Amino acid sequence: MAALHAELLAIVKANAYGHSLSVCAPAVVRAGARWLGVSSVEEGVAARALCPEAGILVIGSVFPGHGAAVVEHRLSAVAWQLWQLDELEAAARTARGSVPVHLEIDTGMSRQGVAPEEFNAEGGQADALLARFHPGSPLRLEGVMTHLFAADEADGRVTEAQLALLEEALRRIKAAGVHPEWLNVGNSAALLSGKAARIAALAARYEMKAMLRPGLALYGVIPQFDPKFESPEPETLAAARERLHPVLTWKTRVAGVRAVPAGAVVGYNGTFVATEPMRLALVAAGYVDGLDRRLGNHFSLLVHGTRAPLVGRISMDSAVLDVTEISGVEPGDEVVILGEQGGDCITAFDHAEATGTIPWEVFTRIGERVPRIAV
Ligand SMILES: *Cc1c(COP(=O)(O)O)cnc(C)c1O
Repeated sequence: MAALHAELLAIVKANAYGHSLSVCAPAVVRAGARWLGVSSVEEGVAARALCPEAGILVIGSVFPGHGAAVVEHRLSAVAWQLWQLDELEAAARTARGSVPVHLEIDTGMSRQGVAPEEFNAEGGQADALLARFHPGSPLRLEGVMTHLFAADEADGRVTEAQLALLEEALRRIKAAGVHPEWLNVGNSAALLSGKAARIAALAARYEMKAMLRPGLALYGVIPQFDPKFESPEPETLAAARERLHPVLTWKTRVAGVRAVPAGAVVGYNGTFVATEPMRLALVAAGYVDGLDRRLGNHFSLLVHGTRAPLVGRISMDSAVLDVTEISGVEPGDEVVILGEQGGDCITAFDHAEATGTIPWEVFTRIGERVPRIAV
């Protein structure tokens, strides 16, 4: 296989998926990442303070009044609307600086980006947007981006259609005489399913360099692919299954242990009633910390390497485990909410399945007051 040239833009948005921006941004830069992707201008300012040299791309919208901070903190901004370019250009002129922009093309998600029928069609927005990057402008078209929103699906037609629309946009950009440096495409699912080579080839056809934007995989978690996804799995995915391990463990401690008689009720509204004499452990984590209320009576946490069922409702600051079958549990003992203990492991997928969500939400809902500690 030909050598693959693709730059990594490490997605550290949303406080590094709840893992802590201040821990993770410097860590990925130390590991060689030259670019970071953040949610907002505010987060970009925080990332700049942590990583003075990295390229920092704000992947959410820039809002009126944000331009000055973008320029001052040397952020790159995703934009797709004329008013966003107005904001950035005015700020750059005031500061006598320039602003690198990544123009987002919406190739099918109807979220951010200029719609292809607006951009690619005759009389669409392409000319007006591209004219803003004339040689005398403080706006510089640093990249073109789109988001592959179905790279985990077995049927690759959506992704193919997206790449075709993107290529049409690249043709128009080239015809307009504008030369962006980066083709910025692809999340974890795209990368792990082997799309990097496709993206790099597309970039090369337009004299651009490829930039990929994985998030979840950087935290050691592989997105779930459609069960009907290629069999055997692409090499990139098989290799990732060998090598990636989740980097986050979420722990708390036992705050107290008590014995209760048969018939004792546990927690708000007594949704659990002891069927026999039981031993209960109070743990210092509640729904404020992101321990989802729906887990009460439906999930187990690890104590002494054994799964102990959560009994009764989860409270704001605490929850109760049934440790009747686990001997020697004492105040101060470690409780693992997510991660490994004694050879067993609770995954973000376990949480996600129990609460009807996805690992991304499980991580990002871990409460702000839970200290993030690098180990
Ligand atoms: C969050 C996000 C990513 C990263 O997605 P993962 O599935 O976590 O790899 C990439 N690009 C954009 C635009 C995003 O919003």
